[in-house]
Amino acid sequence: MPNRTSRTPHLCRRAAEGFQGDRQPIMSNQEDRLKTLIGHAKEYGFVFPSSEIYDGLSATYDYGPYGAELKANIRRYWWEAMVKLNENIVGIDAAIFMHPTVWKASGHVDAFNDPLIDNKDSKKRYRADVLLEEHIGKYEQKIAKEIEKARGKFGEAFDEAQFRATNPNVKRSQDRIDAVEGRMKEALNANDLEAVRQLIIDEEIKCPISGTANWTEVRQFNLMFATELGSVSGESSTIYLRPETAQGIFVNFLNVQKSARMKIPFGIAQTGKAFRNEIVARQFVFRMREFEQMEMQFFVKPGTEMEWYNAWKEKRIAWHRALGLPTDNYRFHDHIKLAHYANAACDIEFQFPMGFKELEGIHSRTDFDLSSHEKHSGRKLTYFDPEANESYVPYVVETSIGLDRMFLAILSAAYDEEKLEGGEERVVLRIPAQLAPVKVAVLPLIKKDGLPEKARAIMDRLKLDHNCQYDEKDSIGKRYRRQDAIGTPYCITVDHETLVDNAVTIRERDSMKQERVPISEVERIVGEKVDLRGLLRKL
Ligand code: ATP
Repeated sequence: MPNRTSRTPHLCRRAAEGFQGDRQPIMSNQEDRLKTLIGHAKEYGFVFPSSEIYDGLSATYDYGPYGAELKANIRRYWWEAMVKLNENIVGIDAAIFMHPTVWKASGHVDAFNDPLIDNKDSKKRYRADVLLEEHIGKYEQKIAKEIEKARGKFGEAFDEAQFRATNPNVKRSQDRIDAVEGRMKEALNANDLEAVRQLIIDEEIKCPISGTANWTEVRQFNLMFATELGSVSGESSTIYLRPETAQGIFVNFLNVQKSARMKIPFGIAQTGKAFRNEIVARQFVFRMREFEQMEMQFFVKPGTEMEWYNAWKEKRIAWHRALGLPTDNYRFHDHIKLAHYANAACDIEFQFPMGFKELEGIHSRTDFDLSSHEKHSGRKLTYFDPEANESYVPYVVETSIGLDRMFLAILSAAYDEEKLEGGEERVVLRIPAQLAPVKVAVLPLIKKDGLPEKARAIMDRLKLDHNCQYDEKDSIGKRYRRQDAIGTPYCITVDHETLVDNAVTIRERDSMKQERVPISEVERIVGEKVDLRGLLRKL
C-alpha cells in the first residue's frame, strides 16, 4: 500500500499514511485481469479458496501443488540471498505464540487498530478510512478523465502541469481532495472518531450496497487475533496470534548475538506466518488474514542507520531486479509522514493487477523496539561494542516483505495469453525459471515401444536435482500447453529416434524453440537455466 508508515501500530494504522490506502480505483480491465489470474491459479493448482467445499472462508486461501512449490522457491531465494550470502546475517524460527507482554511493549495491544463503521441498512462493515480514500479516488478519477479529454484535444502541445493549475473543473476537484484529506488526517491523528464519522456524513458518502448514508458510530478495531492459553479463560491467559514476525527477532536479540557470537552490524532473518484480522480483506492473496512474512532486522550502531538504510534499499531492489520482471513494475515510495519512532521509511511498490501497491517495506526503526522491550521485561538489551568500548541499545533497519504478495507479483507478471501462428492461443506462465514449480517435464511421444521406459530413466536422473513431471497422456501439443500453463521452463520429448541415437528434443517454454540434444547434455542445459545460483550470482 502506498505510503504506509509500517506495520507497527499507530493510533490508527492509516493515520500516518498520507491516506492513499486502497484508494486506487479498480478499473474493470484490472478487475478482469485479477479474475483471470484467480481462475487460472485455481484451475492449475496454484491457489484454492480455503475450505471450498464449505463455500470457503473469506480472505483465506490454500496453496495447491504448484503454488506450494512456487512459494517454497521464493522463500528459498529470499533465505539464501539473506542468510547464505551475508556472513553477518543468521536465521531463526520463532514461535507464533509469544508472551502477551510482547504485544504490550510493541504497542500492538493499545494501537494496532483500524477504524470501522457499519451501514445500518445493509449491515455491511467498512473501514472508515478506506471509505474516505475511495471517495477521494472518485475525484481523482474525475481529474484523470478531464486530463485524458484535454490530451486528446491538444495532442503534442498538451501541458499537463499547466492544465492542472488552470482548468476550473480540475482545480475544483483538487480542492475537494485537499479538503477531505486535510480533515481526515487531522481526525485520525487526533483519534477523533466522531470527526471521522462527521466527515463521511458531510461528504454524503453512501454504502455501495444499500445506497444509504445510515451509518453507525466509528469504532477502533484491533487487528490482532486473540485466543486463550490452556484451559483457564480470563484476562491473564489471553494470548495473540502474532501480527508480525519481527517481535520474535527482537526478543531473541541477545540469545542470537551471544550464541552465534555476532558482532554489530549484524542481521537476524526469519520467515513465517503472521495473522491480522483485516476488516476488508480482498484482492486475492494480496491482503489476507493469515499470511507469511519474510523479515530481516539489521542491528547497527546508532548514528550509522541511514547508511545501512540506504544500503538495504539498494540490496533489496537488486534482489527483485535479478528476477528479470519488467523494471517498470517496481517503484520506491518514501513515506511522507513517519511513525514517531522511525527516522526513515519507504516501500517497494509493485504494479499488481490492481495498480501500484506495497510489496515490501524498508524501515529505519531507531531503538524503539529493543528499548521498549527493555522497559517492559526489565532485562538489559544492550550490546557491548568492543571497538568503541561502550554499551548501547542498537538501532534497527528492517526489510519486510510479504511472501504471498511476492507470489502474486510473480504470478501476475508471468501470466501471458499469447497468439501463435495459425491463430492458436496459449496461456503461458513466464515464471523466472529458477522459481518455476516444475523445472522439467519428460514426455514420451507415445505410450509404447519402449518410449515410456526410456523417458522414466531420464526422469529418474533429473529428479535427483529438480522437481520433474512425467506425462504420457494426450497429444504432445496438449502436453506442452499444460506445462506452459504451470510455467515449466523445459519439456523433453522422447521419440523412436531416441532409442537409436540417445538424443531427445528439448523445448524451451518462452521461445518454444525445439532442439535435438544428446541425453548426456540434458542435465547441463536444464541445470544452467534453473539453478538458483544463477539468481544469487547476480546479487
Ligand atoms: P498494508 O499497508 O498493505 O496493509 P502494511 O504496511 O500493514 O501493509 P507491514 O506491516 O509493513 O505492511 O508488513 C510487511 C509486509 O507484509 C507488507 O509489505 C506486505 O507485503 C505484507 N503484508 C502485510 N499485511 C498483509 C496482509 N494482510 N496480507 C498479505 N500480506 C501482507
